[in-house]
Amino acid sequence: MNLLLPQTIQTLAERTPREGSPVLSVYLHLDPSHPLNQKGGYKLVLDGFLKDIEAQIREETWLRHFEEDAEWVRRKADHYLPKGKSLVLFCDVSESFFFEEALPIRMGNQAWCGSTPYIRPLLEAIEEYERYGVVLLDRERARFFIITMGSIEEISDIFQDPPVKHRSMAGSDHMRSQMVFQRRAAKWSESFLKYASDIVNDMVLHYRIDRILLAGPEDVTAELLRMFPKRVASRVVHRMRMAVQAKPAEVMEISFPAIEQIENRQEREAVEDLVTVARKANPTKEKAVLGINGILDAVNQGRVQRLFYPRGVKIPGSQCASCEVLLDHAPTDGKCPYCSSSLTEVEDLLWPASERVLATGGKIQEIRGKEAHEHLRNAGEVGAYLR
Ligand SMILES: [Zn+2]
Repeated sequence: MNLLLPQTIQTLAERTPREGSPVLSVYLHLDPSHPLNQKGGYKLVLDGFLKDIEAQIREETWLRHFEEDAEWVRRKADHYLPKGKSLVLFCDVSESFFFEEALPIRMGNQAWCGSTPYIRPLLEAIEEYERYGVVLLDRERARFFIITMGSIEEISDIFQDPPVKHRSMAGSDHMRSQMVFQRRAAKWSESFLKYASDIVNDMVLHYRIDRILLAGPEDVTAELLRMFPKRVASRVVHRMRMAVQAKPAEVMEISFPAIEQIENRQEREAVEDLVTVARKANPTKEKAVLGINGILDAVNQGRVQRLFYPRGVKIPGSQCASCEVLLDHAPTDGKCPYCSSSLTEVEDLLWPASERVLATGGKIQEIRGKEAHEHLRNAGEVGAYLR
């Protein structure tokens, strides 16, 4: 699983269109924890998309190119063992251009055939998730990691050889040599930390790091922090002890509580804001709603800008097979109040509702923190900003 480094997106964005040879872009939400996906539901979704696109292509060359691209995408989806929640595929087979990425976040299902890769959803995902830089170091070695969307990646590793100790000598010669060595070591250490500080500065810019966590012996991280320019120092949110040779999974584990605390606070504030806006809202100019009823109305009208729902909560209801309207309470006759078609029971309305929000360009926010969760539950379980 990769982290959508800004450079990756940049490379995709800069790909020049090839005359007559389109790129097929596919986003699939294939979270294996959902029963529909366990039965391979995402393959049906993909198939529907590909057929729709094919039907729209008028030009023969494009159609030929599209067919071979679609074939590659189908094969990928067929043999895919879900790693993350979503799969992103871009390809132009005739130009040997292939891009495949598993993402740990939920993305809206969509497919697109055009002259360039359709990267907007990737760009939005990058903006949506905070990026944490972890600097793990001692006086001889420094390592850098990025944590975002629940994954970690080591981005580089700089070493510097420690100064060589001279052969041992007797008497005052030895004493003097020791002093020289210590002075040199101190100087070397300072310049090494300065070097590390410069790299952190570059890393913040290059990888668009929002917050920094420093890890290592306490005296070293304290010294490094003092060397940072203000702009970098202000992003440091936490310092922690860690062995410099820690594996990425350990770095993740030790960093997690600090990150969780920050994210829980952000979630709590986001829910508080939502509730305030929803309760203040002027009835003629409604900007936010709380409760499943209002949410479904807004979803059915395609008006949800950002949907908030708690992790692990299911709200049963029904859906019209024909006009796709979502209802929390089906009328007693079991017919759709809008088109009179028959309704089907849905185990969890939040699933099709989120799909709909993503498909109409809105965002979804799953609430995980305990406090935010409780606050949202007391305010109606689900909520949304409207456009
Ligand atoms: Zn209907």
